[in-house]
Amino acid sequence: MNVLYVEDDPLDAELTRRELLKTAPLIRLDVVSTLRDAMVRLEQAPYEMVLTDIRLQDGDGLALLAHIRERDLPIAVTLITGSGDEETAVAALKAGADDYLVKRAGYHARLPLTLENALERHRAETARRARPLHVLYAEDNAVDIDLTRRHLARHAPFIYLDAVSTAAQVLERVEQFAVNGYDVLLLDYQLPDANGLELLRELRQGRKLDIPVVLVTGQGNEELAVQSLRLGAADYVVKTSDYLYKLPWALENAFHRVQLAREQAALRESEARYRLISELTSDITYAFRVGPDGAFALEWNAGALGRMAGYTWQGLEEGKNLLALVYPDDLPVYQAHLAAVLAGQSDVVEFRIIAKDGDVRWVRDYARPVWDEAAGRVVRFYGAAQDITERRHAEEEVKRLNQDLERRARELAALNQAGRAITSTLKLEAVLKLVIGEVKSLLNVEGTSVLLRDPSSDELVFAASTGAGSEGLVGTRIPITVGIAGWVARERKPAWVTDAQHDSRFYGQIDAVTSLTTRSLLAVPLVFKGVVWGVVEAINKTDGTFSQRDCEVLEALASSAAIAIENAQLYTSLQESNTRLQTALKAKDDMIRNVSHELRTPLGLIYGYIELMETGDLGPLTAKQERAVQTLRQQGDRLRFMVERLLALQTLDPEKMRWEQVDLSQWLRQAMRPWEARIAKSKAKIELQLDVPPSLPPLIADPDFMGQIIGNLLDNAVKFSPQGGQVRVSAWTESGQVIMAVSDHGIGIPPDKLQQIFERFYQVDASSTRRYGGMGIGLALCRAIAEAHGGKVWAESAGNGQGSTFYVALPMMTTSGNVV
Ligand code: ADP
Repeated sequence: MNVLYVEDDPLDAELTRRELLKTAPLIRLDVVSTLRDAMVRLEQAPYEMVLTDIRLQDGDGLALLAHIRERDLPIAVTLITGSGDEETAVAALKAGADDYLVKRAGYHARLPLTLENALERHRAETARRARPLHVLYAEDNAVDIDLTRRHLARHAPFIYLDAVSTAAQVLERVEQFAVNGYDVLLLDYQLPDANGLELLRELRQGRKLDIPVVLVTGQGNEELAVQSLRLGAADYVVKTSDYLYKLPWALENAFHRVQLAREQAALRESEARYRLISELTSDITYAFRVGPDGAFALEWNAGALGRMAGYTWQGLEEGKNLLALVYPDDLPVYQAHLAAVLAGQSDVVEFRIIAKDGDVRWVRDYARPVWDEAAGRVVRFYGAAQDITERRHAEEEVKRLNQDLERRARELAALNQAGRAITSTLKLEAVLKLVIGEVKSLLNVEGTSVLLRDPSSDELVFAASTGAGSEGLVGTRIPITVGIAGWVARERKPAWVTDAQHDSRFYGQIDAVTSLTTRSLLAVPLVFKGVVWGVVEAINKTDGTFSQRDCEVLEALASSAAIAIENAQLYTSLQESNTRLQTALKAKDDMIRNVSHELRTPLGLIYGYIELMETGDLGPLTAKQERAVQTLRQQGDRLRFMVERLLALQTLDPEKMRWEQVDLSQWLRQAMRPWEARIAKSKAKIELQLDVPPSLPPLIADPDFMGQIIGNLLDNAVKFSPQGGQVRVSAWTESGQVIMAVSDHGIGIPPDKLQQIFERFYQVDASSTRRYGGMGIGLALCRAIAEAHGGKVWAESAGNGQGSTFYVALPMMTTSGNVV
């Protein structure tokens, strides 16, 4: 903004210059000190603003203002007056100044804002004047129209005229709404088809006309004037000699009056709407007038003070009484709020009031001061106060709920952790210790105990205890028929006691053992799978009394504890039976070992005599005796096979094996030979097939034990095959292993038994033992031997009657001689 500043006091000029430089660098200031200089400057350069002191050495700021306005220069003017010179200031505004400023302490600081406002106002005013005015002129006299048009073009070029010559034409335009494109209707009284009043009446009845009407008439007549104004004409002009000079003013004035009326109506409507809204809401809107002494009084209000506070404004008109409403604790904030507003700042505050009925309500007050330049102080403040009690309560409720939730989450986490710790241990003592520890820390109590029920005597036994003097308590027994704990165990309900000493169920004798006097007590039953295992007690809450929450926490702990106690007891009895089983198993193994050892010696003797008889060393045998000796040898072989197997299974030790490199292909053929002979001799007429490639990779193995594997598998295959069945032995290599398989078309194995058959002494069908014989050790031995070789065995069968195949996989040896 380019400003010409006329000021003859050099100090003022300098201060203003500095202030503007500091706070409004966009304002460019040229300073002159006299009226004459100012006028010269205005000729030389374009300014948007003249800021001038009213008193100048060579004249008056008002003269400068007149100079500018007479020439119609597009410049805003702001005047500076001394204090006490306000009348001059008002005169200046009337003469067309855009604003004025009083030379009062600190006025420099307000200068930028004042200048901006003045410029703004000036522009708005200019724009208003520059607005064209469209006039519809109803006149049948062409000369009149021409004259008027010419006059306006010269003296009021912003007025544009359209002419029609009859009332019918006017109505036609009205019907088409085209008339609303005009700002004013200028109506001659004498039209060929109607007179002005008739037309006015018609227009008025139809309420069709939205624009002001100015009536022109040849003869002035008071009656006519009154009638036309009654019918809604905005003005009435008589065609006197100078009426054309008055016309622009009349037209403009009519237009602006209607405009103003419309704006006022809109304002009234919006105010009514606003009042309605204020009354409907719980808000209060108000304006306070502030006196020079800082006291303030209610000027205007709307809304629901009564609803909010129960008081009327009458009682509160004196500003000071407002304070009596404020909740004492909130007085400082409210006073600070008032002080801020009175000092000229907008401010928001939330505070409490005490309503007439004693109710405390939360209010949010937003207040805005109005600063009066001339008075140099806040003269009024507006504000809106809202009842926010519900909101505050809701906020507090949300906060409380959140805190509650957080506390519960913390408790749950602790409870979970406690539950996990309790159930993760299997030692009863440790479980009990954990339980009492957790109860004590989660519930904040002086003492806790776990009492377990002894079903044999129906007593409760103190199993674990914390708290003063609780050491001697463990082991103490109380009958289930007495005490609060007894009641809990019998009723299977929690007991929640605030004053134990006065509770009829209370059993005082325990207090005598400990040094704790029971005051409050919470006890819950330990129930698991419907059985009461005991009771958990918490004694003397240290912070207040036991709550519903405490009871829930204790019950949760008790249910974890019941599981853990049950587990611990199960574990203990499992451990006991396990030890017993282990002992029995060892005794059995020892016995098998001893029996097989013991059998070997007499078996050796029997063999010795068989050989003596076979060789004839005991004399010649009859044919009958020879057959008997043959049977003796056969059954002896079987007995030895079984004893050897039994002993092998009991004593199998890879350390003691005789490892050597074995050519499997060759070894298998050899190992099969005695079986071929034996099978050929048997009555079952089994057909034995051998399907072994001529060469297989070498193995590191104990050939005797390998022989046991093949022997057992073949023994079973033959045993479980039907008369004339086929048994096939095959071998091949597969992914670094050598696989041997023995398959038959015998009785088969149910799928669910395919694993178990490798257990020691396991037989699929115990009754089949009698049919097929056996002890259930062959496959167990096969597995043990294969595993000692780093291999494995498994069986496949499609089920009963579908035959079976047994596989043995053994690791191959690499070329370097190592096992793969
Ligand atoms: P057993 O001395 O009883 O034969 P094994 O340990 O050799 O003991 O076998 C265990 C059980 O596995 C047998 O009693 C039988 O039920 C089943 N079994 C083993 N081999 C076969 C097979 N080839 N066909 C069907 N069942 C078999």
